[in-house]
Amino acid sequence: MRRIALLLAAVLPALGAAAPADGAGARAVGEREALVVLTSSGARASRISRAQARTDVFTGPRSPAAFLRESSGGRLALVGRDRRDGDVIGPYDVGPLDPCTEAGRDRLERRANTAARLAGRSLDGYDHVLYVTWPHPGCGTVNGAGQLPPGRRLVLYDNLPDARLRPRTLAHELGHNLGLRHAGLLRCTDGPGGPKAAISATCEAPDGDQGDRLELMGAAGDELGRLLSAPRRDALGWTVPGEVRAAVASGTYELCPLMAPGGTRALTITRPGDARRLWLELRRPHGTFDDFAPGDPAIDALQVRLAGPDGRSQLVDARPETATWADAPLPPGRTLRDPVTGIAITLQAVDPASGRGAVVLGLPGTPDVGTVPTSCAAPPAPPVSPPAVVVLDTRRGVGAPRRALRARRTVRVRVGGRGGLPRRLRRATVELSVRPPGRSGAVRAWNCAARTSTARRIAVRRGRASVRRVAVRLSRSGVLCLRPTTRLHVRATVVR
Ligand SMILES: [Zn+2]
Repeated sequence: MRRIALLLAAVLPALGAAAPADGAGARAVGEREALVVLTSSGARASRISRAQARTDVFTGPRSPAAFLRESSGGRLALVGRDRRDGDVIGPYDVGPLDPCTEAGRDRLERRANTAARLAGRSLDGYDHVLYVTWPHPGCGTVNGAGQLPPGRRLVLYDNLPDARLRPRTLAHELGHNLGLRHAGLLRCTDGPGGPKAAISATCEAPDGDQGDRLELMGAAGDELGRLLSAPRRDALGWTVPGEVRAAVASGTYELCPLMAPGGTRALTITRPGDARRLWLELRRPHGTFDDFAPGDPAIDALQVRLAGPDGRSQLVDARPETATWADAPLPPGRTLRDPVTGIAITLQAVDPASGRGAVVLGLPGTPDVGTVPTSCAAPPAPPVSPPAVVVLDTRRGVGAPRRALRARRTVRVRVGGRGGLPRRLRRATVELSVRPPGRSGAVRAWNCAARTSTARRIAVRRGRASVRRVAVRLSRSGVLCLRPTTRLHVRATVVR
């Protein structure tokens, strides 16, 4: 019997996957749905129109949607629920409040949500809700505040002279929503009170520090924000097998630029006695956001960061003899030594055509494995598989029912015969992605002709997409049974 993967796919693939090795947050691949809510306070309203907000957030070339698409290599899309090109509602009057404080932002969210619901708009199920305020002088130079998960709120202040939303702020605060913390600097001295050092036994990495200007979560002011660094990409599930190589022995490792189409694009080194790992990457000009000028010290030089399970990362200044951090990456021909562990990192050379570098690693107590090659070319395309077939999407009206599944009601989902699938399909690998608009709960999936004790169970959390792949049998007529304990939305896609 032919085996077919049934993807009860993501309303939005989001949290719930295995914890990433180094980094905050969780996998963020597929689509994430966002809503922009414009607000006003009495006579003071946001100066930003709905059309402007749609451009700034969803469709503009510098929008966070463009940033996430480019940084993820097309793995993450930011969309609206009602409109693919973005949902924007309001303005809604939230009355007097100070949006610059956490309590004020809580109040803003509650009041705007109430006003939206009274106007018949549902805010359930969105991954991100962006509230845009009226011009408020009290927020100073701060342009936004994004919650870390499980929060989904971003408050954006309409306080720039040109009455626009700043691209860097939008993407940065969304980064917090995805679970990313700030990208800071590893501030070391050669002994207490000594001169600046790259790495030493006397280092500080202050919480909240965001001095790493070489990536979005450290960018400031009107900077566009560089693409997210390798440990972030890995934490968000944007890397493929082979893209990140753990170097466990001395040798010469070939390394491709971070955004190259193939090959090893990051090296990691375990640092004995440290929960964090060293992450090495190379950059070249790429797309809209990594538009480095020729000669920028950030390109074709090795960016070295410490990143660990706390979700923060710290840039290492490989050229501590200069006061600036703009030249922190290790240029070709130089060696970075870690006196604490004895690790030595040398960028031997970078090929000007391909951007591929040769990184010589000296790892104490390990044999030399010689040269570890890699090709930066795109890997051969996988065999083309037939297009996926959506058999059920309760939010977009595909299949039946055309509304959220009701609690404790069994629903029979016809799979066989849909979209060219075999009519008598009996087996499937099912990726269930479900999202309860309300209470947390669980859903069971089983062959309608068998006992419910054979069901596979997937737990779901309020407001979160939960994704799991399970192998199931289908009834003789190609039908799958689903039964939730709470009201929930399901999208089912069959992939072959
Ligand atoms: Zn921040």
